[in-house]
Amino acid sequence: MVLSFTEALETVRQRAIATGLRVGAGSTRTEQVQLLAAQGRVLAEDVGASHDQPPFDRATRDGFAVQAHALVAKKETGLEIIGEVRAGEQWRGPDLLPGQAIAIMTGAPLPLGSDAVVMLEHVQTAGHRVRPVGDRTLRSGENVVPRGAEAKAGDPVLRSGTPIGTAEVALLAACGRSTVQVYNRPMVAIVATGDELVELSATPEAWQIRNSNSYGLAAMVHAVGGHPGRLAIAHDLRDEIRERIAQGRMWDLLLLSGGVSMGKYDLVEEVLAEFAAEFFFTGVRMQPGRPIVFGRLPPTSPDPGGGVQPECLFFGLPGNPVSTEVTFHCFVEPLLRVLRGEMWTGPKFVQATLAEDVPGKHDLTRVLPAHLVPGFARTEVRVVRWQGSGDLAANAQANCYAVLPEGRDAFTAGEIVTVLLR
Ligand code: AMP
Ligand code: MG
Repeated sequence: MVLSFTEALETVRQRAIATGLRVGAGSTRTEQVQLLAAQGRVLAEDVGASHDQPPFDRATRDGFAVQAHALVAKKETGLEIIGEVRAGEQWRGPDLLPGQAIAIMTGAPLPLGSDAVVMLEHVQTAGHRVRPVGDRTLRSGENVVPRGAEAKAGDPVLRSGTPIGTAEVALLAACGRSTVQVYNRPMVAIVATGDELVELSATPEAWQIRNSNSYGLAAMVHAVGGHPGRLAIAHDLRDEIRERIAQGRMWDLLLLSGGVSMGKYDLVEEVLAEFAAEFFFTGVRMQPGRPIVFGRLPPTSPDPGGGVQPECLFFGLPGNPVSTEVTFHCFVEPLLRVLRGEMWTGPKFVQATLAEDVPGKHDLTRVLPAHLVPGFARTEVRVVRWQGSGDLAANAQANCYAVLPEGRDAFTAGEIVTVLLR
């Protein structure tokens, strides 16, 4: 059950889609929020245009509303300016005739009778007459967005499942939506395991380690739109791990860190098995991150009170903090996006030019902390120096991970490689 990196991604994709369909089906899993609180959430309804957009034939330039053919035909004598229409008002005079022009501002409705706007920069005016400069021509419809061209009343402009970013907030406001229906944040339980761990409030002895993973994981869960819950540290004792899993399985997703390697006190897998866990994989040929475990705890049979614990997906993430973060971005984050109502899009991969030679591994996909320097013509990625998968300082120097697939001895400067954004 040790998969290649790509096999593991495919497994997570299939599980995410199967679970996402069930999540999406439950209407109790959505809530109504104020428009600005919806930023960063996922839309849980289709939103239609409240009216034709634009609601009228709209001028897109300052200039003169005219009949395009008349402006060209009468370029010697010019057209007679009979008035002005500003944004926020409507032309109230008689319909425009071929020999006439009406001064118009960007955003104003086109007066009846006109079919185009000639830009201010393309005409010269003298007294009450306007004519095109030089050989300027004008097409019917130029500098006008026809009523309903962007959206017709009732047309869907945003689909359920769309992440709400800045552009969506503006569009929802244009549709008159001061509140919107969004998916609930998935609830993610975080359990750090390890005898060496102490909480932030304690001063670690020389042989102890601060539990940084619970915080790193909580921050990542929050950044992806989940609701993190940090449970107490579990020491490497069956009873404590069992108790924490029993607590954590009430959440949508359970993230355990540490205790998934081959050591004598790595008990997480064994205890998960006691809960009748189904394991989808128990390792991935990647570095760092090899011991990662992914599976589900089945729904419980009804207890005497009739209560049923629904299924809970879990990851057992390796305890080394860089491994924890790498495996989160590779596998947990894309799943979490589906649990929060999005379509599966997978990890955030982009391509970039490798700045320096990097050795590959025959049997492991390397996912190395790296620094991405975006550029207009060329985006470069440089692997950072690090002391291995415990090196949080190097990890903080990085802003991405270079993904170097298994089966290659070396990756050379100048070649295009895959980069995982975080
Ligand atoms: P493990 O995966 O349990 O073998 O842990 C590997 C190493 O990761 C440990 O020796 C610790 O140094 C480190 N580690 C484990 N859990 C945490 C944690 N919650 N926070 C920070 N470091 C951790
Ligand atoms: Mg451990």
